[in-house]
Amino acid sequence: MTEHINLFENVNRQFDEAADILGMAPEVREVLKTPYREVAVALPIRMDDGSLKVFHGYRVQHNGVRGPQKGGIRFHPEVDLDDVRALASLMTWKTAVVNIPFGGAKGGVTCDPSKMSQHELESLTRRYTAKISMVIGPNRDIPAPDVNTNAQTMAWVMDEFGRKAGHAPACVTGKPIELGGSQGREAATGKGVAIITREACGVLGIELKGARVVLQGFGNVGSFTAKFLDEMGAKVVAVADHTGGVRNAKGMDVKALAAHVKANKGGVAGFSGGESFDASTVFAQDCEILIPAALGGVITKENAGGIKAKLMVEGANAPTTTGADHILRDKGVTVIPDILANAGGVTVSYFEWVQNLQQFFWDEDEVFQKEEKIMEQAFHDVHDKVVKHGCTYRTGAFVLALERVYKANLMRGW
Ligand code: NAD
Repeated sequence: MTEHINLFENVNRQFDEAADILGMAPEVREVLKTPYREVAVALPIRMDDGSLKVFHGYRVQHNGVRGPQKGGIRFHPEVDLDDVRALASLMTWKTAVVNIPFGGAKGGVTCDPSKMSQHELESLTRRYTAKISMVIGPNRDIPAPDVNTNAQTMAWVMDEFGRKAGHAPACVTGKPIELGGSQGREAATGKGVAIITREACGVLGIELKGARVVLQGFGNVGSFTAKFLDEMGAKVVAVADHTGGVRNAKGMDVKALAAHVKANKGGVAGFSGGESFDASTVFAQDCEILIPAALGGVITKENAGGIKAKLMVEGANAPTTTGADHILRDKGVTVIPDILANAGGVTVSYFEWVQNLQQFFWDEDEVFQKEEKIMEQAFHDVHDKVVKHGCTYRTGAFVLALERVYKANLMRGW
């Protein structure tokens, strides 16, 4: 039977595995699982052809006991409220794992940006921002980019928010450098995934130099992860995305692949430095390290059994279903969860917010040095939980996060 996938149920099952270890009471679980606030908005937009179209947008604020809520905005045809809830909840646990003073939120608009003009995207972003403006802000909830949104989108969010609030660059992160963005933010998530992969290889006894890496997704996260792992000596042997797959057992020229993708509307298909292969078989390619860095819910009961990697590092959010997680655990594949692996992005978003509040800016070296310190600490904090409880890295990361959020909530009152 095909596995039923609901990302929010999935995250809550991951939560429960950690809550069981901590002996957390059912009433506390209910408080910590339930989003604090959910906003759904209708977004009527005058399209370029003169028609009026109504889009649907969401902002879910999951938990804010440790600080302002924080999370990206996704533009995608498959965005629905339960997905946004799941992603908001993951942000609560992610910010707690890296111990930065934020809670968790997420936003999304159901739309297909590939079929929209720049003008339509700007109108949509501004309308969405205006309609959620009463619940966001530097001390409430700070959006950032996610799938199909970028620094330009964040510039529109800042500008629209500023119409009423005045200049408030700390209301959003992932902005262009010229508007108060942080050095290193664009590369930060991929840099963090590479640092976590290196640390995981260290404890698992995998030699990173020469290790074969396979990636799904070569957008922001996938391309920078590949760049930094390549610089650390690993070999990127296969990459698949929405346009197809390319592979080369000797290792691909990652810089040339990035240039190809830039020149070919974001797709790896047709890259001359490798042979093409069926992208649907990406998870079954031979490698030591597998990195999903595209969408959620892609590693399922159906394909988990075919994974050959020893280590899987989740660059994407929620790529693995619970059923697949159990298969991988039983097969002995170590999975480093999203809430640890891809937390470098929100960590540098935190740095951007700090710099905006102080109007005092750091150079890229300083940003990367501080990011590395936080990511290494988080990896070893999670590793300690794994050793203490004899659990997976996912459950270890949830245990760490649940303890931190629960303590903060207890001290503030329910
Ligand atoms: P992106 O839009 O830059 O790239 C998305 C990639 O996924 C592209 O390579 C695209 O081709 C690929 N893709 C899309 N549909 C696909 C399909 N059906 N099959 C195979 N590949 C497909 O997005 P991104 O910012 O790199 O985000 C990727 C993932 O990482 C998402 O899950 C996102 O939530 C997560 N994430 C992103 C950040 C960040 O800072 N950008 C931080 C944390 C987590």
